[in-house]
Amino acid sequence: MVAGAYKATPIRNLEVETLVPPLDLYLNKRVADFEARLDQSGLQVVMDDARLKILRRFGKRGRRGCRRMSLNAATKAFKPTDLDQTQEAIGAWQAQGNSPDEVVTQEWKNRFLASQRGRSLADIQGQTLLEAKEPKEIEKALRKYLRRHKKLRKEESSLLIQARTGRIGLRKFLFLRRVPSIATPYCECGEEEETVYHVLKGCANNPGAYELQRKEGPTDALIRRLQEGDRVRPILRWLMGRLPEYRLALELATD
Ligand SMILES: [Zn+2]
Repeated sequence: MVAGAYKATPIRNLEVETLVPPLDLYLNKRVADFEARLDQSGLQVVMDDARLKILRRFGKRGRRGCRRMSLNAATKAFKPTDLDQTQEAIGAWQAQGNSPDEVVTQEWKNRFLASQRGRSLADIQGQTLLEAKEPKEIEKALRKYLRRHKKLRKEESSLLIQARTGRIGLRKFLFLRRVPSIATPYCECGEEEETVYHVLKGCANNPGAYELQRKEGPTDALIRRLQEGDRVRPILRWLMGRLPEYRLALELATD
């Protein structure tokens, strides 16, 4: 499932999209769990599995971008690198009388808030995270979103994450990424920056959006469906038609 996100997708968004807490928190929790001989919950297994998947997909970064890692390499990279720091963090948690679960939840929320710059379509997942009181609650809520990915084709799932995070092949992001042929973040219509919201809203350069709205509902409703992963296929198919990199996938899906 973990695939298709741009390399520049913020880690915090990947963490939320894939149900994986920040790496060092996770490692600290593992050590604390072991030392406290806490019950291993189902979450642990989910986290292990998802963490390894992320490492294998995004772990190695070379000149040609991310390279997949072997299971062996990923398992090795999985180990904490600074054990002293980990021990120290665990000591601090225990001194505060918090369980590791409580600390992971709270820290995850704090970091998400601290790192939140501007709004992105991924916010609804972030909101879920912030409202949760313990990891099990986060798991339950975010699982709902993960399940919805399973109904999608792989390229649809990739595009959904791209649309939510704003790291998508539209000018605003491409310009920020300094793609050479992109001289401006603005849409060709000149009205606004070219974002998912802008193209779905429709403009001189995106007249097809009006037909999509007639069939599927107003822009805000379309955005809401992308956020929730709810009945997203028609919206994703339309976006694919706008994005040259998805044209082949679209042809294969509609033949
Ligand atoms: Zn426009």
